Amino acid sequence: MSDVHARMEALEERLGDPFDAAGGAGFAAVLTADEREEVPVGGASALDEFGILSEFVPGALGGRLERVDHLIELMRSVYRRDPSLGLGHCSSSLLGAVNVWTAGSPDQRRDTAELLLAGHKVSCAFHELAHGNDIGSVEFAATPAEGRLVLSGRKESITNLDRADAMVFLARTDPDGGPRSCSQLLVPTADLDPDRVRFLPRFRSVGMRGVRLGGIAVDSFPVAADALLGAPGTGLETANRAFQLTRIAMPAMSTAMLDTGLRVTLHHMRARRLYGRDAASIPMVRTTLANTFADLLLCEAFGAVAARSLHALPESGSAYAPAVKYLLAGVTLDAFEQLSLVMGSEFYRRDGQHGVFQKMARDIKPVGFGHIARAACLSAVLPQLPVLARRSWRDAAPAPAALFVPDAELPPLDLPGLRVTAGGKDGLVMALNAALDDDVPAALRPLIERQIRGVRALTEACAGLKPRDLSIAATVEVRDLAARYTTALAAAACVGVWRHAPGDDFLARPEWLVAALTRLEGITAGQPVDVPDDVEGALVDELLSRDDRTVSFGISARQYR
Ligand SMILES: Cc1cc2nc3c(=O)[nH]c(=O)nc-3n(C[C@H](O)[C@H](O)[C@H](O)COP(=O)(O)OP(=O)(O)OC[C@H]3O[C@@H](n4cnc5c(N)ncnc54)[C@H](O)[C@@H]3O)c2cc1C
Repeated sequence: MSDVHARMEALEERLGDPFDAAGGAGFAAVLTADEREEVPVGGASALDEFGILSEFVPGALGGRLERVDHLIELMRSVYRRDPSLGLGHCSSSLLGAVNVWTAGSPDQRRDTAELLLAGHKVSCAFHELAHGNDIGSVEFAATPAEGRLVLSGRKESITNLDRADAMVFLARTDPDGGPRSCSQLLVPTADLDPDRVRFLPRFRSVGMRGVRLGGIAVDSFPVAADALLGAPGTGLETANRAFQLTRIAMPAMSTAMLDTGLRVTLHHMRARRLYGRDAASIPMVRTTLANTFADLLLCEAFGAVAARSLHALPESGSAYAPAVKYLLAGVTLDAFEQLSLVMGSEFYRRDGQHGVFQKMARDIKPVGFGHIARAACLSAVLPQLPVLARRSWRDAAPAPAALFVPDAELPPLDLPGLRVTAGGKDGLVMALNAALDDDVPAALRPLIERQIRGVRALTEACAGLKPRDLSIAATVEVRDLAARYTTALAAAACVGVWRHAPGDDFLARPEWLVAALTRLEGITAGQPVDVPDDVEGALVDELLSRDDRTVSFGISARQYR
C-alpha cells in the first residue's frame, strides 16, 4: 500500500457509500451510533482493517506517513463520514505521537510505532480544566525522587484516556515555573498501578459525542526517569514544534465536514420545490452555495500549502500553523452557520436522509477551541509579526513552486528540525507579488493588487510594534493585525495554487480565485462579501457537476464513493 492515491481509493471503497442506508460507516449508522454516544462499529472495524493508525507513523519507523498533505487528504475520507471516528478512532493518536516522533529516544519511537502499527491508541494528556489553553501552568507534577519521577495530579477532557495503550503527559518538573518548567513523559498504560491511578467519569458533550472525553487522577505514582520525552524542561518547546503538524493537519482534515454539509444542503435544495421551481435556483440559495464552495476551496488550498511548507519551509511552521488553525476554523464555522440557514427546518432534524447535517454542525464546533483556541492562535502569531515584517514581507525570496503543486517532490518531513519561532522567515506571502509578473486576467489583477497593498499596510503597522504591544494583553486592534496576516497567507496560498494548476483544471480558471480572494477580503474587513455575480455561475455549475459525479468539493476534486 505504498501509493497514497491507491490508499485513498481503497479507504473510500472500504468505508463505502456514506448515503447507503445499510453501510457500516454510512450516515445512517453514524447517526444511530451518535445517539448512543458511540462511533459506528462497522466504520471502526473498516478503519482497523485498513490499518489507519499506520498512516500516522513515519515511513522510517515502518509506517505510511511520508507527507502531511497526503495524510490530510486521506483522512478527509474518515472525517466526511464521521468526525468522531476521525478524531476518536484516528487523529487523537497523532496528537501524542507527534511529540514522540519529535523528541522521543529511538526506543520510545520504536515502541510507539509498534503500538500504532498494531492498531493501538496513544492518548495525549496535556490540558487541565483549571488551565485550559494556558498549558504552561499545568499542575500535574513529575517530581524527581530516588532516580525516578513521581507523578501526581489530574488531567481532564482528554480523548481516549481510558482505552489508550500509552499516554503522553505534559507535567511540571520544576515547581519554580518558567519556560523550562514542564516536561513530557511517555507512559505505557500497562504500567499504571490501579491503586494509584483512577480514571475519571467520562465528560458528555453536545458534539463529537462518539469521542471518549475523559480524565485521570494520579496519586504518587512512580515511573522510570527514562519515561521523559527529550531532556527535562523541554516539554513546552517540544509541543511548540510537534503541534505545528497537528495544528495544520487537524483543521485541514475537518474541512471534510464542510464538504458533507455542503453536499447534504445541495441534495436538499436540488430536491426541494418551492414557488414552482427548484429551491437550488433561488438566487440567495445559489449565492450561499457558491460562497461555501469558495470558502471550502480557500481553506483546503491554505491547508495544503501550509502542510507542504512543513517539508519545504520548515522554519516557518510556528507562524503558519496557528494561522491555519485560526483561519480554517473561523471560515468553516461561519460557513456552517450560513448553510444551516439554507437548510431551514431540515437542519433541525436528527433523523431522515439529511439528519447528518446537524451532527456535522455540532461536531465542527471544537475546531474553534479544541487543541488550541482560535484566540490563542492569534496570541501565538502576534509576537512574530514585527520581525516577519522587517525581515520577510518587503523582499523575501519567492515561495518554492512545490508548495502549490500536488505531488511535486518535497523534502522529507523532519519534525525534530522544526523551529519554535520563524525567525522572521516567511516565503509564502511573497507568492502574491510573483503572481503579478504573469499575464493576470483583468478580473483578478485588482484583487491581487489589493492583497499586495494590504501586505504593505500590514508591514508598516507591524514593523513598529513594541514588545509591550504583543503580550497576552494585546489590544483588539493589535490582535486584528495577526488576523489580517492569516488572510494574507491564505490569499497567497490560493494565488499560488491557481498559478501552478494544470491548464485544464478547474483550479487554473480565474473564477474560483476571484471568489476566494473576494471572500478573504470580506473576512479581513470583518464584513462578509458574497462571491461576485459574474463568477457565481461558474462556481455553482462546477459544484453541481462535482455532485453529479460524486467528486470531492475541495481542491483535490477526487472521486468519492
Ligand atoms: C473533542 C475534544 C477533544 C479533546 N481532546 C484533548 C486531548 O486529547 N488532549 C488534551 O490535552 N486536551 C484535549 N481537549 C481539551 C481542549 O483542547 C480544551 O479545549 C483546552 O483545554 C482549552 O480549554 P478551554 O476550551 O476551556 O479554553 P480556555 O483556555 O479556558 O479559554 C477560554 C477562552 O479564553 C480566551 N483565550 C484563551 N487563551 C487565550 C490566549 N492565549 N489568547 C487570547 N485569548 C485566549 C479564548 O477566547 C478562549 O476561547 C479536547 C477538547 C475537545 C472539545
